[in-house]
Amino acid sequence: MEETLKILVVDAEEVDRIAVRSALTKAGVRMELFEVRDGNDAFSALSTTAYDCVFLNYHLLDQDALTLIQQLRSSEIKVPLVVLTAQGDEQIAVQLLKAGATDYLSKSRISPETLTQVLRSAIRVYRAEMQAALANQQLRETHEQLIRKNQELERQQQHIQMQNFNLLEASQLKSDFLATMSHELRTPMNAIIGFSQILLRPKFGQLTHQQADMIERILNNGKHLLMLVNEVLDFSKLEAGRLDLKAEIFDLSKVINLAVGEMRSLADAKNLSLLVQTDLQNSLIFNDPVRLKQILINLLSNAIKFTESGEIWVGVKELAENRVVIQVGDTGIGIAPKNFKRIFEAFRQVDQTITRKYPGTGLGLAIIDSLVRMMGGKIFLESKLGIGSMFKIELPRQITLSTVAADAPASQLDADGVFCSAKNHHQSSSQASKASIGYPKFKL
Ligand code: ADP
Repeated sequence: MEETLKILVVDAEEVDRIAVRSALTKAGVRMELFEVRDGNDAFSALSTTAYDCVFLNYHLLDQDALTLIQQLRSSEIKVPLVVLTAQGDEQIAVQLLKAGATDYLSKSRISPETLTQVLRSAIRVYRAEMQAALANQQLRETHEQLIRKNQELERQQQHIQMQNFNLLEASQLKSDFLATMSHELRTPMNAIIGFSQILLRPKFGQLTHQQADMIERILNNGKHLLMLVNEVLDFSKLEAGRLDLKAEIFDLSKVINLAVGEMRSLADAKNLSLLVQTDLQNSLIFNDPVRLKQILINLLSNAIKFTESGEIWVGVKELAENRVVIQVGDTGIGIAPKNFKRIFEAFRQVDQTITRKYPGTGLGLAIIDSLVRMMGGKIFLESKLGIGSMFKIELPRQITLSTVAADAPASQLDADGVFCSAKNHHQSSSQASKASIGYPKFKL
């Protein structure tokens, strides 16, 4: 043992103290050895100084070793303790060990070898015990910390749940408000539109040119306002899962031509060509014709709105597995790839400023996205800034009504593992740059 050990010998008999000292000296133990004669002195020595080991005679002048050990224990004084017993005292050894003694040795067995062996093993045992106690203490502390953290997490989770609940409630209130308001606004809007139309009829009476012009403006603005109100109503219904598709068998080409017919005057007003290419062997499909026309009108009105010169085109063709694809393309301002995902979110526009050039609610694509998902379809977008955009809508020829809800998560619709919702259906910029943009390069 290289270190110098501080050793305390507690024994009333000088002979015995000398025996311990000389045995340890003979064994070559490097030590500072202190001696006291009774329990009280031993207690005060151990209270003030840290010893590496104590050799304690079982019989002390004022008490026995057992009492001293208990006293030390209750004062939380820890030290390796070897009790030196007389012949016959071994029977109480178990009791001493239980009370906290590290080891015991019969005085008759004291020799340099036995004493150093007992000394070393007592120190080793004591240090191992201390390490174990320390590890235990650290474990207890970690455990307590974990419990506290767990409690904190539970509190936070409850708080988040509560906030979530409040948010859901607020969102529900907002949806209800939007639905009620837009519904209420439709009645007066229809009256304004209806009466303007009546006023414009020749049989109603002769209007001056200026009067007719003003009523036409009332009519056009009324129609525009009704369209905006309808968008808000549709959106709130879709959000609340209260919009149902009314499916029937109809001629897809006819619905496309109807939508194009309705939008032609707007395209003409901007000098844009509006081209249609239908390539269907069988043009009958099972879907909601009103909602499908609404999707087309929305895409076409965006295409016209965001195109200053060039052309708009609509195409439709059959795909494998009983699916069809409808495409609406333009040579307009295009969309940067970083905005591909955003524009399908409600109220999102590439230009969010108040002074933006192009008007709109920012709900059109969000509604289209929900409707296409309800139809079990997918939307793809290819676009390049300054060149144009193309929206492709893939649909099953026959939709399944019961299985698809408007608010169904994208993954539910994504049965074949291909992207299909606003969250992931837009091609990367590199793919977009390769996209065939511009009629007649655009092939169905
Ligand atoms: P709105 O047209 O009412 O703003 P939409 O949801 O229909 O709302 O479109 C969201 C945004 O996506 C538009 O504001 C525009 O920035 C962009 N966008 C949509 N279609 C086109 C298009 N054909 N060309 C360029 N940008 C488009």
